[in-house]
Amino acid sequence: TLPKIAWIGLGIMGSPMAENLIKAGYQVTGFTLEQAKLDRLAAAGGAAAGSIAEAVKDADVVITMVPASPQVEAIAYGDEGILAHARPGTLLIDMSSITPQTSVDLAENAADKGIRVLDAPVSGGEAGAVEAVLSIMVGGERADFDEAKPIFDALGKTIVLCGPHGSGQTVKAANQLIVAVNIQACAEAVVFLEKSGVDLTAALDVLNGGLAGSTVLTRKKDNFLKREFAPGFRIDLHHKDMGIVTDAARNVGAALPVGAVVAQLVASLRTQGDGGLDHSALLRGVERLSGE
Ligand code: NAD
Repeated sequence: TLPKIAWIGLGIMGSPMAENLIKAGYQVTGFTLEQAKLDRLAAAGGAAAGSIAEAVKDADVVITMVPASPQVEAIAYGDEGILAHARPGTLLIDMSSITPQTSVDLAENAADKGIRVLDAPVSGGEAGAVEAVLSIMVGGERADFDEAKPIFDALGKTIVLCGPHGSGQTVKAANQLIVAVNIQACAEAVVFLEKSGVDLTAALDVLNGGLAGSTVLTRKKDNFLKREFAPGFRIDLHHKDMGIVTDAARNVGAALPVGAVVAQLVASLRTQGDGGLDHSALLRGVERLSGE
């Protein structure tokens, strides 16, 4: 029989991911802060719990998908949290993007309670979550990875054990660096092309066929063309991730000169009130710098 799953955090990513597990036949009990998202889970065939404690008490596997390290810590360590209420032997899979050190500490603290942990952040955005084609970068023990693999298969397409606890988060941090720099480069190209009077649709099509092509250019093309910036992936969350990669790189003595500049550009969008927009709104920043 399939393991019973508790899912904590039903946001832009968590809702469609939990629904994919239900479609794959898993029994999913969820908890999140918005009642509408709990109703959505129940409508999809899951069970809505009234608290984290209630969601996790009978679970074999607990999955968390919340914004950042402070939420993961609150959910794990709180009086009503996972470590206090999950059964010994439970596998806790944190799929949020958080600092690698938080994942390492969580694995250590959970082990005291007989709870095993994997860090398993994802890439592929809302579309990747809906279509179950996420890249899943995992840190932890091989045996726990093997046990979780059927669950990951229902959520994603490229699933890789990267190394010990925290490794998944380190790879995700690199992912976020590459994505931000890529979006910024695409945004600069878009403004340059438009000011030059070149047809943008034609230009992006041919660029995508060459070495400049990328998943960012494919997935964000319509955002750029239509100036459509509903999230998707919020600037606020990418700001968090640029902080994670900047700190982690400094800790190991890796230079991120371009990453540091793009981190500043992401931060400046927030101070200008655009933190709730999709990260493709880096285009707005380039337009402002270009006098538009
Ligand atoms: P979101 O803000 O849409 O959803 C977060 C959910 O967490 C919300 O439903 C909220 O109710 C819940 N939550 C927060 N605190 C909670 C608590 N104490 N108890 C229970 N639930 C709580 O965020 P999202 O876009 O789904 O992102 C989630 C994580 O996935 C983040 O770490 C993000 O960086 C990462 N991520 C997002 C994307 C994307 O495209 N949106 C892609 C890859 C990774």
